[in-house]
Amino acid sequence: MKVAVIGAGAAGYFAAISVKAHHPNSEVFLFEKTNKVLAKVRVSGGGRCNVTHHCLNNRLLAENYPRGQKFLKTAFDQFNVSDTIGWYESRGVKLKTESDNRMFPESDSSESIRKCLMDEALNLKVQLSLNQHIMSIDWCAKEWVLTFGKGEEKVDCIIVATGGSPKRQGLKWLEDLGHQVVEPQPSLFSFNMPNEPIRELMGVSVQQAEVRLVGSKLKANGPLLITHWGMSGPAILKLSAFGARVLSDKNYDFSCQVNWLGNTNEHELREIFDNVLKEVGNRQIGNKNPFELPTRLWEYLVTKSSISLSKPWRDLPKKELNRLINTLFNDTYEIRGKTTFKEEFVTAGGVALDDIDPDTMKSKVCPNLYFAGEVMDIDGITGGFNFQAAWTTGFIAGKLGGR
Ligand SMILES: Cc1cc2nc3c(=O)[nH]c(=O)nc-3n(C[C@H](O)[C@H](O)[C@H](O)COP(=O)(O)OP(=O)(O)OC[C@H]3O[C@@H](n4cnc5c(N)ncnc54)[C@H](O)[C@@H]3O)c2cc1C
Repeated sequence: MKVAVIGAGAAGYFAAISVKAHHPNSEVFLFEKTNKVLAKVRVSGGGRCNVTHHCLNNRLLAENYPRGQKFLKTAFDQFNVSDTIGWYESRGVKLKTESDNRMFPESDSSESIRKCLMDEALNLKVQLSLNQHIMSIDWCAKEWVLTFGKGEEKVDCIIVATGGSPKRQGLKWLEDLGHQVVEPQPSLFSFNMPNEPIRELMGVSVQQAEVRLVGSKLKANGPLLITHWGMSGPAILKLSAFGARVLSDKNYDFSCQVNWLGNTNEHELREIFDNVLKEVGNRQIGNKNPFELPTRLWEYLVTKSSISLSKPWRDLPKKELNRLINTLFNDTYEIRGKTTFKEEFVTAGGVALDDIDPDTMKSKVCPNLYFAGEVMDIDGITGGFNFQAAWTTGFIAGKLGGR
């Protein structure tokens, strides 16, 4: 049996290796349009490659995918985070878990992952062809004909692992075969706030904020970073991922509200203020910050609430206290545009999951055609989830329908 895998990224490599592992007598061709393999793996995670996320519960793991949640929940039954850890460790690449549960190779170098995948493919005799841009594929007389620049190849099965396409045109060849395509849109971006003075605090961060999209139920928690352009950090990126479609529809012109105290509720907050009044009521508000907020941010929020920093706590009228509470909990910002997050950019959209069987990754539209990785309408938030989707779907696609 001859199998062609199109695209030598994370999903394509994993799929090609999986075909050989499950079908040792097959002949596997791995076609790559550029002269480089695993290019994103190399630059990923700031050169360290955030391979996966230490989440061993498949249901919770799937919740980190704004698109593809249900589909991946099924797929994780066949290959999940434990399998990824075991797969790499059994090939000599130990992974370590950081405090936020992101997993990296112990070497802190993406080269360990690249080398592992390249060595494995080489050992299994996967035939790599660089500089082969697959222009079209056609099903003729019970086989697939792949057409590329200088020729064509006939194979029995194809696995498409061409990655995310920022433009719909890049998916036209798959659409022409009868697949539905979900309009590609960027995911994982920071918010631009050109008119917001908070940008003067660039570099300031809080560990646990909650950001809400005004006029919707969308919200996200986590660290938040104030940048030269506006806001970034895990909470913002998560909101950008879950809100990718809504925010695109709004042309990235919207409002969000920040709760700077993340997990604290209003009752707890009022108790904290009561204690401050009792214990240090004579201290100036600007000098006595009762929260773990950076001083500059605290001063900014107090001033934004039209309260004098030099006022003693005990002289704070109820009306002003309520204003401060409102700023801490519902601080509103106007967003005008986005900046793509350079560290881990992904595309939302791609081949519609309705046209793919989650148990096999097989196309429901064409015979002997499978998909793996970001070419599908699957994307995760930051933290290693996107590679986990590539390993899982690549592994399953490589079974070629077998269990
Ligand atoms: C800078 C950056 C850092 C990232 N860091 C992380 C991280 O640390 N952790 C994480 O989980 N995710 C990370 N991601 C996301 C992750 O890299 C992707 O989700 C993942 O690479 C998708 O794998 P893939 O194999 O589906 O696609 P890709 O890695 O994009 O591979 C697709 C391959 O197909 C080739 N190709 C495309 N069309 C054709 C064609 N017609 N013919 C032949 N070849 C073709 C492309 O050249 C490419 O090599 C990062 C992304 C970026 C951009």
